[in-house]
Amino acid sequence: MKPVIGVMPLWDEEKDSIWMLPGYMDGISRAGGIPIIFPFLEDEEELSRLINLCDGLVFTGGQDVSPRIYHEEPLEGLIDDCEKRDSMEEIILERAIAEDKPILGICRGIQFINAALGGTLYQDIPSQHPSATDHHQQAPYELPIHEVRIVEGTPLHECLKVDKLPVNSLHHQAVKTVAPGLTEMAISPDGIVEALYRPESHFLWAVQWHPEFSYLTDESAMKIFRAFIEAIIYKD
Ligand code: MN
Repeated sequence: MKPVIGVMPLWDEEKDSIWMLPGYMDGISRAGGIPIIFPFLEDEEELSRLINLCDGLVFTGGQDVSPRIYHEEPLEGLIDDCEKRDSMEEIILERAIAEDKPILGICRGIQFINAALGGTLYQDIPSQHPSATDHHQQAPYELPIHEVRIVEGTPLHECLKVDKLPVNSLHHQAVKTVAPGLTEMAISPDGIVEALYRPESHFLWAVQWHPEFSYLTDESAMKIFRAFIEAIIYKD
């Protein structure tokens, strides 16, 4: 039986509408999962039932994570957040971890998971952590723009079997202090944490780059989607 994967909805503020990048859905499908896009819900019981229908969950990219989650005031004019995503995803993450549902975080996903579990973020890399590393590339987004060092002994290193990985990068926020319970799996040349996992969980990985843009051309991107799906299939 193929596992069902709940995918956090992307939000288009201008159109007041849910949307989705096809790469999330297609990447999950090609890895052997059945993706479904979550609606926006506030009711915890309803969310619980939806989570129970899913074998795994993907925390997708999107708007900035509100700095209020890690008890900071937003930097003036630099934060574009989505309150209803933050509040729904807080409920989902807590329940999913409690039930040990496999979780994959991508871009905003790594930031959100880190912030929700008690870490902090750079609200804006150019103003708070300027460096020569370009974290905000132009299209085509499937091409790598900077390298990351994969930390030896981590599940990501075991999965990819490389010490260095060229990645794409499309973020202006980033992990600053790592949340308790999470461990670094990849670091950019300017010291930004670009992948995390939670050793206590069966599978909770998060990456700062974008396998959903590069999965057709970059084998490492598909390996990450496959590691996630296989962790579900071989869970019990
Ligand atoms: Mn980056």
